[in-house]
Amino acid sequence: MHIVVIGAGVVGVTTAWALHQRGHQVTVIERLEGAGQETSKGNAGQRSYGVVYPWASAAMVRKALPWLLDRQGPLKMRMPPSLNTLRFLLDTLRFAYAPGVYGLNKRAMLRLGMHSRTCFQAIEDAVDLSFDGEHAGILHLASTPAAMTEYADTAALLDELAIESALLTPDQVREVEPGMRGDGPLFGALQYRTDGTGDCHLFSQALARACGDRGVRFLYNTTVRRLVADYHRVNAVEVTDSRGTVERIEADAVVMSAGCASPELLRPLGLHLPLYPVKGYSLTAPLVDPERAPRSTVHDDNYKVVSTRLGDRLRATGFVELADFDRRIHEARLETIRTSVASRFPGAADMDEATTWTGFRPMTPDGPPAIGRGTRDNLYLNTGHGTFGWTLSAGSAELIAQVIDGEAPALDLDPFRPGRFAE
Ligand SMILES: Cc1cc2nc3c(=O)[nH]c(=O)nc-3n(C[C@H](O)[C@H](O)[C@H](O)COP(=O)(O)OP(=O)(O)OC[C@H]3O[C@@H](n4cnc5c(N)ncnc54)[C@H](O)[C@@H]3O)c2cc1C
Repeated sequence: MHIVVIGAGVVGVTTAWALHQRGHQVTVIERLEGAGQETSKGNAGQRSYGVVYPWASAAMVRKALPWLLDRQGPLKMRMPPSLNTLRFLLDTLRFAYAPGVYGLNKRAMLRLGMHSRTCFQAIEDAVDLSFDGEHAGILHLASTPAAMTEYADTAALLDELAIESALLTPDQVREVEPGMRGDGPLFGALQYRTDGTGDCHLFSQALARACGDRGVRFLYNTTVRRLVADYHRVNAVEVTDSRGTVERIEADAVVMSAGCASPELLRPLGLHLPLYPVKGYSLTAPLVDPERAPRSTVHDDNYKVVSTRLGDRLRATGFVELADFDRRIHEARLETIRTSVASRFPGAADMDEATTWTGFRPMTPDGPPAIGRGTRDNLYLNTGHGTFGWTLSAGSAELIAQVIDGEAPALDLDPFRPGRFAE
């Protein structure tokens, strides 16, 4: 089959890899100049298989208002909110308070996380990719005793799903992360032992090159304008290149992996996918003293900032901002991220030399991504991975490839069905 994948973010590229491995002829269409240039570019670098959770939770809703009122709180919303923002928040509330939904989605996402771990391993075994990847576990710090109580509940759920974790004392935390010499409050941590890190941007580019070497066609600087469909099938995608030339590319099947841009391409085919661009920020700085830097990923619950070691760089990431597609980088947000790094890893990196970045998580209002068939026989979705697209990419790619090949998928895909928002 000739399969067109729309989008060369980490989700599109892993999808192309999975489909090519199964013998399909694959064309990836990307509007930017290379792979991994949009949301997959500057994220926190965590492959947090054991952490994944739905965004829509009653506990999150309870924390949201105090976070919004706190100047350094992790949640920001542009005032007045747009209609789009309000719609997304209302949808989120609906899912957060739907009885039983959070628990089902959390378990489904964790299963997908662990499946993704296996699929990443298979990719890393099959091809030599250089992306500053590690498998050293990750830490969620507890800056209050209450946080440790919450972590104990999380550890119990992980136990139920046979996902390896450990509750650590402050001394044990310092053994795992000896570079953590700051004076931020510390009452212990939850260690996710199955998890890892890596530069998602480098990975996307390296895997795209590996795919290209094996015959996958990448059309960069090429924008999909619309899907050309009849009542049953998508027959082609209509694209424009950088010179404005319009062309139709025929396909036996199409996979939508255009991140935040997916809904606008799906809407004309009657598919309502309410993704919202949840903005976040990152700083990437060269290390000046690797001994004082994180070995892996450390989530500072005090400022809700994640510090990750990526080779000889430190990446620090934070904020959940609801401001539609506003790409401005606010200095106050960067200042909070720097404060967190200084309170945990002082002297580790040259923060004055840091590059800054902002990106948009393609978030569904409930939390799970959309993986499965769309509103035409040969239209498939693999998109909407929100906070966890790097983590879940390898597993999601394998699952959509199974669906396309008509196999029973390795996991129950019901929680991920693309049509669930129209029900
Ligand atoms: C601050 C921040 C921190 C994060 N940290 C983590 C983390 O630690 N771990 C984790 O797992 N996830 C993390 N994420 C989430 C993760 O980055 C995303 O879920 C993931 O990158 C989404 O990948 P994607 O391929 O779906 O989307 P994208 O990377 O956005 O790719 C979509 C691609 O489609 C292309 N496209 C769009 N429209 C068209 C069109 N019409 N024609 C052609 N091409 C098109 C775009 O140009 C883009 O390249 C974070 C996100 C943010 C913002």
